[in-house]
Amino acid sequence: MFVDKATITVAAGKGGNGAVAFHREKYIAAGGPDGGDGGRGGSIVLVADDNMSTLMDFRYKRKYVAPNGADGQGGLKKGKDGADLVIRVPRGTLVRDKETGGILQDISGSEPWVLAKGGNGGWGNKHFATPTRQAPRFAKPGLPGQRREVTLELKLLADVGLAGFPNVGKSTLLSVVSKAHPKIANYHFTTLYPNLGVVYAGEGSSFVMADIPGIIEGASEGAGLGHDFLRHIERCRLIIHVVDASGSEGRDPIADFEAINEELARYNADLASRPQIVAANKCDIITDPAGFERFKAYIAEKGYPLYEISAATHQGVTELVQAAAAKLAELPPIQVFEPDYVAPEPTLGTAEDLTIRHEDGVWFVEGDWLERLLGSVNFGDAESRMYFDRALRTSGLFERMEEMGVAEGDTVCLYELEFEYKK
Ligand code: GDP
Ligand code: MG
Repeated sequence: MFVDKATITVAAGKGGNGAVAFHREKYIAAGGPDGGDGGRGGSIVLVADDNMSTLMDFRYKRKYVAPNGADGQGGLKKGKDGADLVIRVPRGTLVRDKETGGILQDISGSEPWVLAKGGNGGWGNKHFATPTRQAPRFAKPGLPGQRREVTLELKLLADVGLAGFPNVGKSTLLSVVSKAHPKIANYHFTTLYPNLGVVYAGEGSSFVMADIPGIIEGASEGAGLGHDFLRHIERCRLIIHVVDASGSEGRDPIADFEAINEELARYNADLASRPQIVAANKCDIITDPAGFERFKAYIAEKGYPLYEISAATHQGVTELVQAAAAKLAELPPIQVFEPDYVAPEPTLGTAEDLTIRHEDGVWFVEGDWLERLLGSVNFGDAESRMYFDRALRTSGLFERMEEMGVAEGDTVCLYELEFEYKK
């Protein structure tokens, strides 16, 4: 089964927490702060893999989680970074935001691309020591990693797409001009998924050819197999329109040619105006020479170049390949989709979402908003501390705690940050 669409969720790793620790040595009661920083969380990275041609793997595994960074330790030991999780996808995979369908990235190049960034590690308490505060009892927590839900959509990268009805000889042609081994048989719909082949057209000249399942009438409206596969010729720079010119199946090549073009236009108006070369195939078994002449005249009038070939006997195939290579040399490169969607920073909730627990006279406050706030504050800096103070006071947290009965002098724990409650 060919899978060219999949939805996955990814979660990058959380950064490790900074450590609160103090130097200890025999005979020395208490040394200075030496809490190390947390490690960075692992990111989720996508990279193109030319050995993959479907998104099959993603049907079975839909959730990808990168490891967290390790917490810092005493002795200024930094926590280990979480390893990046590299996900390999076929070249030509579009990554779309699941909600909006917007394009985040087209994985067509060779550069790895970061889909979700790991959270930064928190600073250890060493960073927060000042001349007046030599024993800081706090460190920063690591930040959460990004999470995303995305749709992967494969739009194969090929220079040339073979279009045509089933059984006209597309797969045979690909197998003759490249090392690809598509399934070939004398019945309709043998090709159930696209095949790619590299075609050598002489020294230093090669191109990629895609054989997609045959298009049938109504394909663009979802009839038969063809519809889903049309997206794989969307990027092709050139279409080789293969027609059975032999009349061996009692088909009219002119009607076939028009029907396919109509399907292309209905799917995407752009596709219909893509440059085309007509490959009149099965010339070795022409049964209706007059009909063939009519077909040639018709195509000539339409202004398309036509090559008489036989994929079976290889007649005319080299000329067709040369013509395709020459045409490609004039055409712009393969379309790469520009990202048209920038993922917003993940929402981290508000102060209203904070959870407040009261245990044995100690108040524990937790929540993404607070983690984020703590992560952004530099406690070694007076202005930054004032900002932190203000953010807490205007957040509504203390009003909520008052309602819950917090009393003067109670201990408040904001993760590793501890203080006494004062009105
Ligand atoms: P596709 O459905 O368009 O991919 O067609 P295939 O490549 O699977 O070919 C369909 C049938 O036509 C197979 O039996 C091929 O052997 C046969 N065929 C393909 N090209 C030629 C040709 O040039 N001459 C003859 N006589 N038969 C051909
Ligand atoms: Mg085929």
